[in-house]
Amino acid sequence: MIEINPISVEEIWQFLEEVSDPEIPVLNVVEMGIVREVWFNDGGLIIRITPTYSGCPAMNAIENEIKKKLLEKGFEKASVVTDYKETWTTDWMTDHAKLKLKEYGIAPPEKTEDDSDFLTNLKGSQKIVPCPYCDSMKTHLQSEFGSTACKSQYYCDECEQPFEHFKCI
Ligand SMILES: [Zn+2]
Repeated sequence: MIEINPISVEEIWQFLEEVSDPEIPVLNVVEMGIVREVWFNDGGLIIRITPTYSGCPAMNAIENEIKKKLLEKGFEKASVVTDYKETWTTDWMTDHAKLKLKEYGIAPPEKTEDDSDFLTNLKGSQKIVPCPYCDSMKTHLQSEFGSTACKSQYYCDECEQPFEHFKCI
């Protein structure tokens, strides 16, 4: 006898979309690319996640938030497996997530393979990050670290506003 699970894996993915990233509340853990795989195992549920920046203290919070959400949905036997075999990259973030990040006032990461000369100014390795508010290229780096290690602090010389850049890895 095969026991048919009344809830599909697709529905679990939808539940997970309700779990927001603790650092960037406008983004959820699915569009961040943190949730890698979901499957049922002996009536339990397993969620495989890959941590973002190793320096980010948010990973335990994400694990707990996922478990809390699934418990809310009636899954007592959900386990979250943190997988360090893969390395999270900002390329895993969906384009929609990057757009939301920009609307939130954080300059989104570029595609890592697009690290072209265009973005590197003549002084050397410093990248030009367009302002998320006015799209001006007249910005400068203020600090390598913003509110967290995953972000750097920039300033826009055009609209005279500070903003954060989500570093790309
Ligand atoms: Zn600006």
